[in-house]
Amino acid sequence: MRVMKFGGTSVGSGSAIAQTVSILSAAHQPDKPVIAVVSAMSGVTNLLLGAAEDAAHGRLVDTSDLRHQLLDRHLVAAAETIRDARLRQEAATAVAALADQCLRLVESVQVLGDLSPRVNDWIVSFGERMSSRLVAAVLQDRGVPAEAVDADQVIITDGVFGAASPLFDRTREAATARLRPLLDRGVLPVVTGYFGADESGATTTLGRGGSDFSAAVIGSALDAEEIIIWTDVDGVMTADPRLVPEASTLPAVSFAEATELAYFGAKVIHPRTMQLPAERGIPIWIRNTFRPDHPGTRIGPEPVENGAVKAITAIPGLSVITVEGAGLLSVAGVTARVFSAVARVGINVFMISQASSQHSLSFVVRGADARAAVRVLEEEFELDLLRARLLRVWEDPDLAIVAVVGAGMRGTPGVAGRVFQALGAEGINIVSIAQGSSELNISCVIAAADVARAVPALHRAFELGRTVR
Ligand code: ADP
Ligand code: ASP
Ligand code: MG
Repeated sequence: MRVMKFGGTSVGSGSAIAQTVSILSAAHQPDKPVIAVVSAMSGVTNLLLGAAEDAAHGRLVDTSDLRHQLLDRHLVAAAETIRDARLRQEAATAVAALADQCLRLVESVQVLGDLSPRVNDWIVSFGERMSSRLVAAVLQDRGVPAEAVDADQVIITDGVFGAASPLFDRTREAATARLRPLLDRGVLPVVTGYFGADESGATTTLGRGGSDFSAAVIGSALDAEEIIIWTDVDGVMTADPRLVPEASTLPAVSFAEATELAYFGAKVIHPRTMQLPAERGIPIWIRNTFRPDHPGTRIGPEPVENGAVKAITAIPGLSVITVEGAGLLSVAGVTARVFSAVARVGINVFMISQASSQHSLSFVVRGADARAAVRVLEEEFELDLLRARLLRVWEDPDLAIVAVVGAGMRGTPGVAGRVFQALGAEGINIVSIAQGSSELNISCVIAAADVARAVPALHRAFELGRTVR
């Protein structure tokens, strides 16, 4: 059995869905079944999140406009792809019923003026609920027995709204109970990506870009032979092709490298996707829906050694928080207090550095989390600040991390030197530096405005466009 996940652009229009469906119908064989996992049509998740937010703040006035925006995309795609009139009508009815259910939720947020994480997750799940109906109907129109499946019945989670983790054993039971009978009957399940449900049945999302993770969870739960992530680029590339047009596709990367690349900004795969397949040795392929002849990238267990550095990544929109004071580290447990305070409010820390003078400690967070980080540290160290033992806590905004990633750089001297040289030659100032203890990456904090120059400069310095192909 194989799991095939199709991202937002792969289901983003009638012609994209036609392409997706032709890949699925060619792959689905009686002796080699396929489970599809689909994202919402591109832009729909953002539309729903924006509507929920606007409703909560009294900014959404016209829900009929929202209804049109939601429905039009799906109905136009249905009209373009479903030839059988009855199937087309059924799909339109199903999608409209979902849109109406979603709108009732948005309206209730509007009335209450309050948006809980639980209702937010429920509202935003409708993008995938709608796209899965559409894709299943197009498959049926092509003569492939298919059924849309809501993942609330497949992925059982710990109930952390917005960033849920699957409970693996419960998920294995639920996924087997819901999906095996369909596979046994030769039906191709089209499962919604991005979310599952907690044990009480409340919808919980897995985080933005989480449909990749959904495919990995389902593939691992049902012992798939492989997991194929179909997207809009040829695979994992040496850099984001939007920043570096000459970036090339990597034929293979290891699970650890893919995780590192994803964590440091390669949006092509969600960072949590690799963990479960890596534990089970299930390979993951990244392939291009619009160029199905291209082999794509294989993410697998073997260490793949082709050159020290594989790829350059970037995470924009970051801030550095610095806690500074004379004799800072002589205050017992300061480091522990800093990070437990930040963890208490659920803020993710990307990178940490500490000056050897012991006078300051800095760490990198998302810009959106910076104010909360400063506030919680000022609270935590209120007494120390009063006694002037800790002098200051502040934010440096508008920063980014650029990272140079690859398992082959372990034990390869001179990688850091080349990074500094390349950035220095471009006149780019490095705010701080870290090398992961696994030696899979070197990351530098720079100004966000320098990312567009830094990534191509590093890509050239390591000759990535030429050597890996
Ligand atoms: P999907 O909707 O299919 O999940 P995403 O937009 O989430 O697709 O991810 C694909 C995008 O990731 C590409 O269009 C590309 O611009 C971006 N990307 C960033 N870094 C990389 C990289 N190293 N290799 C390939 N794509 C990358
Ligand atoms: N639709 C969701 C998002 O936009 C999940 C995904 O596409 O992976 O974040
Ligand atoms: Mg994605």
